[in-house]
Amino acid sequence: MSEQQTSQTPDNANKPVAKGQVIELYKGAKRIHPKMAKGRFANLRIAALLATQAVFYLVPWLVWNGRQAVWFDIIGRHFYIFGMVLEPADLLYLSGLLMVSAFGLFWWTTVAGRLWCGYACPQTVYTEVMLWIDHLVEGDRNKRMKLDKEPWNARKIRIKAVKYLIIFVVAAWTGITFAGWFVPIREFVPAIFNGTAGSGALGVAAFYGFMTWLFGHIMREQVCLHMCPYARFQSAMFDHDTLIISYDAERGEPRGARKKTAAKEDTNLGDCVNCTLCVQVCPTGIDIRNGLQYECIGCAACIDVCDEVMDKMGYPRGLIRYTTEAVLKHEYTDADIKKRLRRPKVLWYGLALLAAIIGLIVGISTRQTMQIDVVKDRGVMVRHNKQGLLENTYKFSFSNASEQEQRVTASVEGLEGLKLAGIPEEGVSVPPGQIITLPVKVATQPENVAKGSHPIVFTFHYRKAEDANDTVHAREIREKSIFIGD
Ligand code: SF4
Ligand code: SF4
Repeated sequence: MSEQQTSQTPDNANKPVAKGQVIELYKGAKRIHPKMAKGRFANLRIAALLATQAVFYLVPWLVWNGRQAVWFDIIGRHFYIFGMVLEPADLLYLSGLLMVSAFGLFWWTTVAGRLWCGYACPQTVYTEVMLWIDHLVEGDRNKRMKLDKEPWNARKIRIKAVKYLIIFVVAAWTGITFAGWFVPIREFVPAIFNGTAGSGALGVAAFYGFMTWLFGHIMREQVCLHMCPYARFQSAMFDHDTLIISYDAERGEPRGARKKTAAKEDTNLGDCVNCTLCVQVCPTGIDIRNGLQYECIGCAACIDVCDEVMDKMGYPRGLIRYTTEAVLKHEYTDADIKKRLRRPKVLWYGLALLAAIIGLIVGISTRQTMQIDVVKDRGVMVRHNKQGLLENTYKFSFSNASEQEQRVTASVEGLEGLKLAGIPEEGVSVPPGQIITLPVKVATQPENVAKGSHPIVFTFHYRKAEDANDTVHAREIREKSIFIGD
């Protein structure tokens, strides 16, 4: 086992136990200090990190129509996403979004393995950020390992204090940003500094900041190895045509050190110079040369570093590379990998993903921006009003799930002579994001209705308040109810 590898197996696991001997049932994992890798895939990882974190840190600060552009107002039970206002009734779209994410995950895992883990998972991203801080303050791998072994002295305390201060600032700002998706961030941040921030939002920020530090700095690869469920079930989506990061053992073995100037045919060695750099850069501390392992998060750092070694030795790149099991078994060549994208599993997942995306887009673009509820008021008895008409009472609830004031008009049908009272003919104005509840009466001549329950239908038309006279673009909602005759 390499110096870096983690292990939970105690050294004395298989030895006979002497009387009075303390048995070590758990051996803590050694701290991994990966070396920084440079290259094509490291650049891709940085680009993915910058893109995902730009969204995370900047989006809560965007303003749309005078309000936070994206605000998941859990207490107010409204989700504001730019011009869209989602309510609890719109949870269906959240299910749609989850389906898109799930099929997306299935699709790209089948095609290219652990892309999510290697490039976009928040755990990978924050581990990478914390490693940058380690590298910036303590230096590269060797210096960090040396510093860890050093006894505590003024220099070590100073270095560690600077590092933890930077980590604290990053973790705290991450926590505050996370809370800022759920509370108005432009009010929350000043409120933290003047001591008026709500305890709920502060608690969320503190918890998320703490978890960023714990998972990103303390636990790091342990989260991927022991806590992440995705690491466990993703192999079910792999097939022998899935792109995985692999060491080409046929080409690399027998491994061994040699002079850079030595002619390869004179060495009787494969292309692996046994420099162990691929192990040194690995954030989970494994040796990719031992074959596909669930600990591999697909970060491709070992590809970058091995390519660099191959360049220096004058050997072709790709001793460690994205390839498929089938290529390694000589079923086809690397050049044919693209053709295998047209296999049924990939196509079915792709079709399911496409259907989920189309369904979500259609659902959102045709969604009603006015939710209307009609409830028969059973607390008020059927009665004859002052005009001698037979009258039933209802409660209308209008919930405006848009950014504009909207006007709603209503009519009723189902029995002869039905009249609606309590809602003006020109309609009711409902402010953006607000709910209005109105008591409404429906009446007709007693001779028009027999005793018992009769179905009736309310028809509502709604449009932007500024387009109140635009009957062409008004949207319609019909709600069934009953009218009781006595
Ligand atoms: S980096 Fe490449 S050459 Fe060096 S040990 Fe790893 S596989 Fe061998
Ligand atoms: S084996 Fe390579 S790709 Fe896998 S986690 Fe280690 S460095 Fe990353």
